[in-house]
Amino acid sequence: MGDGMDGQREPEANAEASNGRQRVLAVDLGGTNLRAAVVASDGELTHRRAVSTPSEAGPTAVIEQMALLIADVAAVAALPSGAPVGVTAPGPLNPRTGVVHFTPNLPDWRDVPLRDLLAAASNRPVAIGNDGNCAALGEARFGVGKGFDDLVYLALGTGVGGGVICRGQLIDGAHGLGAELGHVVVALDGPRCSCGAVGCLEAFVGGWAIAREGRLVASTADGAAILKEAGDQPITAGVIAAAAREGDPAATAILLRAGRALGAAMGAFVNIFNPALIVVGGGVAALGELLLHPARAAFPSHCFPASTEHVEIVLSSLGDDTGLYGAAAIALDLHEAAGR
Ligand code: ADP
Ligand code: MG
Ligand code: ZN
Repeated sequence: MGDGMDGQREPEANAEASNGRQRVLAVDLGGTNLRAAVVASDGELTHRRAVSTPSEAGPTAVIEQMALLIADVAAVAALPSGAPVGVTAPGPLNPRTGVVHFTPNLPDWRDVPLRDLLAAASNRPVAIGNDGNCAALGEARFGVGKGFDDLVYLALGTGVGGGVICRGQLIDGAHGLGAELGHVVVALDGPRCSCGAVGCLEAFVGGWAIAREGRLVASTADGAAILKEAGDQPITAGVIAAAAREGDPAATAILLRAGRALGAAMGAFVNIFNPALIVVGGGVAALGELLLHPARAAFPSHCFPASTEHVEIVLSSLGDDTGLYGAAAIALDLHEAAGR
């Protein structure tokens, strides 16, 4: 991994400047894990670190922990002092002001000026971005989206997020609060969503929503034999996937419905943005074809035929590192903007 301090920081910084290869600090802030790494502009990811997020201790403690992690990684990687930091964080945040408005899994985060607090604590330039938008930028720069100017990224995790890139530009609206693709309505009389609305995509295909359906059918429906046998273990999206692979009809029906909802949403996104590529990532994307097959089958009936011919639907290639690559993408953007 090239770890180790060798006292050669300046020559290395100069070499970086002369060969045009930049290295930045990437931080992925999650409700459970806080991860950091060094990412080079050519996509090499090194010096990976992960600690538990001290979420219960509140924003000040979390930001201190982030600054410690950054200092540690920067020292071991012998990064130049001006190397920027990109942070991907969950929840609505304004990337222009650097303020995190709210995070569902981090208690007490209300209008926290994360960018400025972390810049002061780490003495480095900092950019922050919402996890769905960062993931879209990461896929476009380093992942399966390389070479695509028009893509939609769907983050299927516990909740559902996403990001849209049109003509090479991230589409995030007046205050950077777009694009919450998980909360597009696919059924006016559908299930209640975590956001309070009814019939959102997330209420069908979010990890929590798939698990909820599984618990319901296991407690009531005939034909959920394998799910019922899951017995004492909690029914998660992964348990439902395993039951569907064994042929459980109730589990299969849940995933078929989730996949059709995903297809309906994809149809809407294809109509609105005319992407060349739709990238599906996040933990629930491990369902693979169980979800993508019904989605691919359904989506053409939800959009104009002309746009369906030119769109590919693929799984993310960055896996667990999507957040780190996304954070690196916004740090590199910051660096490039500073050089202009
Ligand atoms: P978050 O970042 O929101 O915590 P992740 O992207 O890590 O979410 O995804 C977590 C979700 O993925 C959970 O709902 C989990 O049940 C689901 N999941 C994890 N592994 C699998 C799997 N093999 N098949 C289906 N779902 C899975
Ligand atoms: Mg995540
Ligand atoms: Zn919603």
